[in-house]
Amino acid sequence: MSSSPSPRGAGSTKRDQRDSSAGPTKREREVGRGLLFIVSAPSGAGKTTLVERLVEHTPHLKMSRSYTSRAAREGETDGVDYNFVTRQRFEAMAAGGQFLEWAEVFGNLYGTGAADTEALLSSGHDVVLVIDVQGARKVRAGGMDSTTVFVMPPSMAVLEQRLRGRSKDSEAEIQRRLQVARDEVASFAEYDFVVVNDELTSAVDRLRSVVVAERSRLHRMQRSAETIVSTFSKVQHD
Ligand code: ADP
Ligand code: 5GP
Repeated sequence: MSSSPSPRGAGSTKRDQRDSSAGPTKREREVGRGLLFIVSAPSGAGKTTLVERLVEHTPHLKMSRSYTSRAAREGETDGVDYNFVTRQRFEAMAAGGQFLEWAEVFGNLYGTGAADTEALLSSGHDVVLVIDVQGARKVRAGGMDSTTVFVMPPSMAVLEQRLRGRSKDSEAEIQRRLQVARDEVASFAEYDFVVVNDELTSAVDRLRSVVVAERSRLHRMQRSAETIVSTFSKVQHD
């Protein structure tokens, strides 16, 4: 996770959490339900940095804010970077079916709030989950429609440099993350797209191109295209 002060997850806004009886928003009328994107990568590959940049410059795209039982790191804020909860509270939420997916990563529990995600999607926002490989498998297994992207570091040596450069983890923790990364990178073929995070700006552009392409799929453009087609039938010829 980057040490950037920008929020990890935009989360729900008041407008997103509005009473559904208030009727559809302008965006819902235009595009219907939002799209779900999943981004996974080994720790230190730069997925948080990439996705924060992506959402900053992509209208109607929100990064989900996960729940975690891990302690906040220096510079992290509850309700901004994560929803920090106790392990006990997390387990109660999991038992109550409140997560779309959850997993244990590096000894801590992490989960995506089902209601939070649903509120965003049903208000017409596209949502990006930055979750580990196990979490992505669970969402896929649950049958939810999603577009998945695996972010690769350019090499193991670069990954190690980034983990050290971030200077958030102890030497033992860095070694543990590199060990787990070996298994994670081998999972890239489970994903729809692969983005190599070499040069940051171009990697963000490639990630954005996935979002743009998904938004342009025929079934999502059907309504707009039909509206345009209908303008042709109104042309009067003498
Ligand atoms: P992750 O969320 O995957 O664990 P981070 O976003 O925290 O990774 O990034 C890990 C470190 O690598 C951070 O210090 C970040 O600034 C740096 N970083 C991310 N992307 C790049 C890049 N393309 N080139 C160089 N450094 C990068
Ligand atoms: P960190 O502790 O460095 O912020 O995150 C550790 C790992 O947990 C990262 O691989 C991150 O993608 C993953 N993670 C963060 N939130 C979630 C979540 O909600 N679900 C799952 N499955 N993994 C998550």
